[in-house]
Amino acid sequence: MLRPPTPDFRKIPCPLSSKGVIRLTSGTAQYQCSRLRQVIAEFNVGDCDFTTHDESQIPVEPDERLVVVDFTPFARRNTP
Ligand SMILES: [Zn+2]
Repeated sequence: MLRPPTPDFRKIPCPLSSKGVIRLTSGTAQYQCSRLRQVIAEFNVGDCDFTTHDESQIPVEPDERLVVVDFTPFARRNTP
């Protein structure tokens, strides 16, 4: 996965699972867990059901805002 572009960016952990991070799908513009439960080539992968189209469901701190870089959502600290 893409590394944070600068230190004031951080990957956003999934609110449902401790190991997942939030990703954005290119086709449907849906936010979802990196460990999303799904079937790929007949294999079951993932163990999380977090998906949303609602940015307000993405957990960022009050002093951060959601920024998407190459389909990877980051929380970016607001600089004063
Ligand atoms: Zn998750």
